[in-house]
Amino acid sequence: MTMQVTLVNPAAESANNIHAANNLVTAALRQAHEKSIALGTMKPLAATPAAPAAMVDFWHKPVRIELNHFKFKSLSDWKCNISLGCGHSCEFCYVPAVSTKFLKPVLKKRYGVEDPGAQWGDYVLLRPFDEGRVMKDIQAAENRPLSELSLDGNRAVMLCTTTDPYQTITAPDKALQKRLNAERAHMVRRILELIRDHSTLNVRILTRSPLARQDFDLFKSFGNRLMFGMSLPTLNNQLARIYEPNAPAPTQRLATLQAARDQDLNIFVAVAPTYAECDEADVRATLTAVKALNPFTIYAEPVNVRADNIERIARHAAAEGQIVNTAVFATRNDWRAYAMDSLRMVQRLAQELGLESKLHLWPDADLKSENCFHEIRKAAWKRHHPGVKLTLEQRAELNRLSAIAYAEHRVWLGGWWSRISEWPGVERAAWTPPALPADPFSVPALQALKANT
Ligand code: SF4
Repeated sequence: MTMQVTLVNPAAESANNIHAANNLVTAALRQAHEKSIALGTMKPLAATPAAPAAMVDFWHKPVRIELNHFKFKSLSDWKCNISLGCGHSCEFCYVPAVSTKFLKPVLKKRYGVEDPGAQWGDYVLLRPFDEGRVMKDIQAAENRPLSELSLDGNRAVMLCTTTDPYQTITAPDKALQKRLNAERAHMVRRILELIRDHSTLNVRILTRSPLARQDFDLFKSFGNRLMFGMSLPTLNNQLARIYEPNAPAPTQRLATLQAARDQDLNIFVAVAPTYAECDEADVRATLTAVKALNPFTIYAEPVNVRADNIERIARHAAAEGQIVNTAVFATRNDWRAYAMDSLRMVQRLAQELGLESKLHLWPDADLKSENCFHEIRKAAWKRHHPGVKLTLEQRAELNRLSAIAYAEHRVWLGGWWSRISEWPGVERAAWTPPALPADPFSVPALQALKANT
């Protein structure tokens, strides 16, 4: 991988620009606060019950830095996950589907976790820190030839990919809780110091927690080798509490991102996932606030269906007496239609706000199914033209237009899947976002067929 270091850095912005950005973020925080108050119909959420003792403890194997298996994400080449489980308990979280399910027997036998999916958020098992082990992993990563790495990983180690590096751990045993939190803080800081001082690797931090501020000094010492990012699906604190019950409020995260920018850190934002309740106004407000931060990259994706995450969302919302839109997950094609709408809306709004070049959409691989694409189109046609019978010629025309729409759709998907995320100081050829095709499932597009035939 060839990298040219230049002085490209948002820190070079003028003081006036930063001041203006601060004002915009302050305004966004005020609006989000008012919006939360306006949503008076949502009931306050109950406190989450404490997890059983054995489920919050130290894991029996030490923390590692290992190659990851990201596809289409362009986040990192390596992962460093400090714990099994995550106290933030995001109901949509994909981790139990892709990671902890393989550890089901050991989670049950050693820690009493009966169902890693259903009990997601109840268990946090901190990996012990073994400095010698981590140093060996760093050396192995440092010596790995570029030819064996993916360009889209930016030669970065990500903390973390299956948990949150800055979570606050809550345990029934308060002495153990104190030890776990002290060890978490020490481990994350020491791992970062080791990477900084004993390698040329990059680091990507992703968190939902303002606790990350404790390490801003360390982040800064990395210069362009570190990107700090937060997940910010919405600025609506009440909505976030339904989907991410134990994570710090989005407004706190926005303030943390602003603090990071004030310290000239290189930042990215994951405006993800876009909940079904996030309408245009909601997403526009979030993107507007994010724009003021001048991040390198803005990632976005809808809620993807993974194992039992939709059941978790529905169960938690029902337990809290809240209503969420689970109809968009009723069938696989309902989810595909929502996912497409959501991704398209984010791209359209990013265009409108002049953010498209920073946008990095993550369309799920499942959206490439050609059969399903045509099924959704046909279903939309029938819904909007009840009782209309097509002639054979008209049906052939519908199929021809659907084939064209699908070809455009594949080009669009392929454009996002081949996107390589920015890294500060790295110059690459300018990236052109894939053109947004006409809405393949819209009524006007299908009505055009009727007019043509
Ligand atoms: S913070 Fe990340 S890892 Fe933790 S529960 Fe939420 S989505 Fe999952």
